[in-house]
Amino acid sequence: MEIVKNYINGVWKESVSGKTEEVIGPADGSVIGVVTDSLPQDAEEAIAAAKKSFYTDRTWRDMPGVARAGILYRIAELIDENAHDLAVTDTLDNGKPLREAEGDVSDAAECFRYYAGLIDKPEGGAYATNNGFGEMLNMTVKEPVGVCAQITPWNYPLLMSCWKLAPCLAAGNSLVFKPSSKAPLSTAKLFHLFEEAGLPAGTANLVLGSGSNVGNVFAESEDVDMITFTGSTKVGQGIARAAAGNLKKVGLELGGKSPVVIFDDCDLEAAVEWVMIGIFFNGGQVCSATSRLIIQDGIHDAFIKRLAEKASKVTIGPGMENPDLGPVVSEDQMNKILSYIRTGIEEGAELVCGGKRYTENGCDKGYYIEPTVFDHCSPDMRIVKEEIFGPVLSVLTFHTEEEAVALANDTEYGLAGAVITRDGARALRVTRELRAGITWINCDQPTFCQAPWGGYKKSGIGRELSVQGLDEYQETKQININLHPENPVGWYVH
Ligand code: NAP
Ligand code: MG
Repeated sequence: MEIVKNYINGVWKESVSGKTEEVIGPADGSVIGVVTDSLPQDAEEAIAAAKKSFYTDRTWRDMPGVARAGILYRIAELIDENAHDLAVTDTLDNGKPLREAEGDVSDAAECFRYYAGLIDKPEGGAYATNNGFGEMLNMTVKEPVGVCAQITPWNYPLLMSCWKLAPCLAAGNSLVFKPSSKAPLSTAKLFHLFEEAGLPAGTANLVLGSGSNVGNVFAESEDVDMITFTGSTKVGQGIARAAAGNLKKVGLELGGKSPVVIFDDCDLEAAVEWVMIGIFFNGGQVCSATSRLIIQDGIHDAFIKRLAEKASKVTIGPGMENPDLGPVVSEDQMNKILSYIRTGIEEGAELVCGGKRYTENGCDKGYYIEPTVFDHCSPDMRIVKEEIFGPVLSVLTFHTEEEAVALANDTEYGLAGAVITRDGARALRVTRELRAGITWINCDQPTFCQAPWGGYKKSGIGRELSVQGLDEYQETKQININLHPENPVGWYVH
């Protein structure tokens, strides 16, 4: 197999380690790729290339906005032209059904188009002022932050990369990038498209390797002006600590344990469908997955019966066969999820469906888990408090609206939340009470690059996507112009 290489200063090259790492496909545990396994020296070389690109060459940063937009539009076009290959790559690497990977690729192209479109639009503001200093014009302008480092997880390999890369490049930064070593292949292909689209050498540098060898160097480097990270809260906390060294800007998109709150008056069939999307889409490996179902007592029994019925009919298999549910990303992840399922049983939650590794129909070599629902959970259980990141739903029951809100907010996380009810005022009231950055009414999970994405509490700092997502990759500068330079203020005129 051809070794997938780093891309540094416009050159594809292997790590100085001379070592490689196998990439495992979760559908059957087979080797689907071989990537170079980088050392801290490679990360440092990439940072130096980005630094030279931004501070010395200045090619990307000084390129007229219209020309920069042109390259980003071309990247979007190339993503579309290579859509099938990119989708298959993510399906093989991450495990997700091909249909879902195709959706990710189309969203990735849209994300590049969206940010290409923002580059040449007016920005900043101007104020006419006249205080004790005389008549002035105050202008506010946006500038790129400088050298950005970006680190992504494996659950949406291509899309998470694009959510970071598109706004960062749109703002005129240079960058270093590390994808998750569990699913790095589509991002490496994307960097080939960057080269083809004419992105200047050194602007975007790719380093393949582990968090400890590469990510850590990014977080600690004094030459990195900003770091953005998507991943677990624990690693995010470490990055924030390391970033304090030179007080680099930090953007964190972290974990969650999001609620979906369902009232008695809901449309039962529709609500069951949304709950299933909320926890089984992408195998529940979604930061915004609604892994806590908080349901009103009047509808509880009928709802759980229907949910268990539908969950047990979910088709399971390799992503390439387009089942409802693919494998989870890795053997480690499978074992972690199975261990949470054992914990749930030990804690006394009632297993209503699933609960086992799935090995039928030739799935014995891959990492498959049955859609799992635990009923009669209580707030202190670990399966209610901790992020499992798999197809495992924990159910809590409430009687009053106040109880629902209290249960929904009883978490250290604050990424997302959904409310399902036919009572419009109640839907808004409860949604306003949720301490979470992304909320849904009468739906669960829809995501758009036009709207800001990010969490409250331990779910992160800052927002991705939308105009705000571009703003995160910019510094703000005010320029004060004295309109009467010949006029002294008069304080020191004696
Ligand atoms: P993770 O273990 O935190 O890893 C995320 C990335 O950080 C990987 O590229 C990893 O590298 C790297 N990393 C690990 N240790 C590091 C260190 N000490 N310094 C710098 N980088 C380091 O998370 P994951 O298992 O990949 O992804 C699952 C988590 O991501 C979940 O908690 C989920 O909620 C969260 N997530 C959040 C969002 C959001 O938008 N809020 C979206 C998707 C996922 P290696 O693994 O290659 O070593
Ligand atoms: Mg993989």
